Amino acid sequence: MIQKRAAVLQVLRESEGHLQADEIYRRVKEKYPGVVLATVYNNLHALCEAGLIRHIPTMEGADFYDKTVTPHEHAVCSVCGKLMDADLEDFEAVLRQHTKLPILHYDLILHTVCSQCEKA
Ligand SMILES: [Zn+2]
Ligand SMILES: [Zn+2]
Repeated sequence: MIQKRAAVLQVLRESEGHLQADEIYRRVKEKYPGVVLATVYNNLHALCEAGLIRHIPTMEGADFYDKTVTPHEHAVCSVCGKLMDADLEDFEAVLRQHTKLPILHYDLILHTVCSQCEKA
């Protein structure tokens, strides 16, 4: 169990940064052929709870998991569904300045067309 949790974390850390559960499952399976999807989901959940990875829900299709846990925003390609980092440096400070409400948490996803899809 612990080994599989480490394998899930390693797959994400060795990736380009953002993966969906089915892709993580495919990569973990190369190492542990007997692994089932539910185990991968359980481990992803536990790793999120432990603050080692971040869960990124998107409106287009399956949720992503992010190896970078420090605060940053995301952009998703409306054509291929790829999730990218979009670092809007002082965004949170701007939000705090302009709203009278306490901000506990926020979700922001920019919708874009990635450079590969733009070329196609
Ligand atoms: Zn794209
Ligand atoms: Zn990210």
